[in-house]
Amino acid sequence: MPEAEALPDNAISVRGLKKTYAGSKKAPPKTALHGIDLDIPRGSMFGLLGPNGAGKSTLINILAGVVNKSEGVVQIWGRDIDHRPRDARAALGVVPQEITADVFFTPREALEVQAGFYGVPADERRSDELLAALGLSDKANAYVRALSGGMKRRLMVAKALVHNPPILILDEPTAGVDVELRRQLWEYVRRINAEGVTIVLTTHYLEEAQELCDTIAIVNHGEVIACEPTGQLLRRLDTRNVVVTPEHDLTAPPVLEGFEVKPRANGAFSVTYRSGQSSVEQVLAAVRAAGVTIRDITTEDPDLEDVFLAMTYGDKTRADPTKD
Ligand code: ADP
Ligand code: MG
Repeated sequence: MPEAEALPDNAISVRGLKKTYAGSKKAPPKTALHGIDLDIPRGSMFGLLGPNGAGKSTLINILAGVVNKSEGVVQIWGRDIDHRPRDARAALGVVPQEITADVFFTPREALEVQAGFYGVPADERRSDELLAALGLSDKANAYVRALSGGMKRRLMVAKALVHNPPILILDEPTAGVDVELRRQLWEYVRRINAEGVTIVLTTHYLEEAQELCDTIAIVNHGEVIACEPTGQLLRRLDTRNVVVTPEHDLTAPPVLEGFEVKPRANGAFSVTYRSGQSSVEQVLAAVRAAGVTIRDITTEDPDLEDVFLAMTYGDKTRADPTKD
């Protein structure tokens, strides 16, 4: 980093961040963020995990400066976005969720234009290096509109990095992207993280966050409901489902003390439990004790919704999102 500022402990720090989108004739106002506190440590590979509509993009877009916050304090690289908006944003490269393509430019031109936009002097530009790093060298002079979706996504990553920012934010980078690209993208992201770039990515795939991120914050309905090192979080997210098909039709699924029960198709029901607290045996015992004769059972891994249910069900003590 060329500047002489002391390096901040947190790449990004957010306090009491609220966002309410104004309503219209058709839609009422919508509060997307309900007062979020979040610290993203410098150098981390940080995952913002949450279902669609949780508020992830709203948070990213506030950081990027394309959405105005309603309340709260945001510091990027130690710089307050209200007091030093340009300096704050200069520390960020953001790859938005929607693929955007400059139809009139080739990839190399697109990078040069972006570098110009950030005031990067010609002799410090690294368009060819970025194109090579993202596997786009042979497309350097192609029309952007001729690129595949995956190539456009990689070009967006290259564009986000032209000014060599210490923080790279990727909003749902693998949505609609093929397996090979995903692998290449993660390889590259891991490499620059190892070189010291702080990475923030949003995803609604638990697996993706789990595989890549050293720290995960779970966002749901505009709140941070957990924020901890990945291993620690996964030990808390030890939820499992047992799907039970009863021998006889039930008028309603049984109510089981201490377990979340949801109806499934064809008279079956699922029971969500935490493997650290209960066993399949205990679940089945509870089902039998409720007077249900079991014809068949299957077990399945939980999806994110189950994880949220398990985290909030019978456990009102939420993780402290500020960690301090
Ligand atoms: P995520 O990225 O986690 O899927 P978003 O931040 O896109 O979530 O959306 C959070 C909530 O805010 C959703 O209910 C969404 O419908 C709403 N929202 C997002 N953008 C707008 C907007 N421009 N105007 C009104 N509501 C919006
Ligand atoms: Mg989003």
